[in-house]
Amino acid sequence: RAGRNRFQFVDQRQHDLHHRELQIEHSLQHVLSNELGEGLSLYYQPQVRPTDGKIMAMEALLRWQHPKLGTLSPAEFIPIAEQSAQSVRLDRWVIEQACMQVAQWRERYSQVPVVSVNLSAPQFREPDFADWLQACVASCGIKPECIKLEVTETTMMTQKNNCVAMLGRLRELGFKISLDDFGTGYSALACLHQFPLDELKIDRNFMVEASQDPRALLLLKTIVHLAQELSLTLVVEGVEDQAQLNLLANFGPLTVQGYYYYRPMPAADINKLLG
Ligand code: C2E
Ligand code: MG
Ligand code: MG
Ligand code: MG
Repeated sequence: RAGRNRFQFVDQRQHDLHHRELQIEHSLQHVLSNELGEGLSLYYQPQVRPTDGKIMAMEALLRWQHPKLGTLSPAEFIPIAEQSAQSVRLDRWVIEQACMQVAQWRERYSQVPVVSVNLSAPQFREPDFADWLQACVASCGIKPECIKLEVTETTMMTQKNNCVAMLGRLRELGFKISLDDFGTGYSALACLHQFPLDELKIDRNFMVEASQDPRALLLLKTIVHLAQELSLTLVVEGVEDQAQLNLLANFGPLTVQGYYYYRPMPAADINKLLG
């Protein structure tokens, strides 16, 4: 019976976590039924070419100011939204906002980098997605080439057929396709050549480990070369300091997304970089 106290403690913790999940799921429903997407906003994080500091692209990242729980990380609420396929509508809200923002930037600035958006796993079970997306960019008056779609390695590997078919079609329409979080999920290495891709994004963990272990650095270098051989553009995620950047110095053409250059920021702050 003394042992049971431990279980009770774990049960309480799980109960709290479950309660939080339900709370988040419930509030999401509310947010999405509200046309303005109250509490939701987009941040943008530039991807930089280290040789000259040029901004080559920007990733749109969702932020949610929850009325009771405070600012929630997408790393927490996206997986919850994915379970009930609410992430489908969340993704689409993000895409609409991003497309309108790109259109606005293109009116004001001569050079606007490509903007990438993240796709959640359930999106690949929605047969209308490609048509919807095509209509979305058209109604904003921008070309598909202005938008890059990020799909994680895990999504790609767990829904291979859906992803290959849908991304193939989207790529034909002119959208750029990027494989996100490469090296963290089920390894996509063996199938890399079969996927309709323009870009590889190497997960932040590689950068972290490469700065601590020469063998991890060698692994990073090998992946970079592989991507270059496959004619994919390359983004290294999570570069936080000069020392990490220096490690990439002889790696050939790539871009870097990380706190060292820019943190994710509101659109208004991006204006200052584009102007
Ligand atoms: P991700 O797509 O891999 O996005 C990169 C994440 O790394 C972002 O976290 C970004 O803020 C963070 N990051 C960038 N540079 C650094 C760095 O130098 N150091 C550290 N420690 N972190 C860095 P964020 O914004 O919290 O997003 C987390 C994840 O949530 C994203 O990972 C993505 O998988 C998902 N997500 C974000 N927005 C959306 C969205 O609109 N739709 C969907 N489906 N997923 C989203
Ligand atoms: Mg991403
Ligand atoms: Mg990533
Ligand atoms: Mg990630």
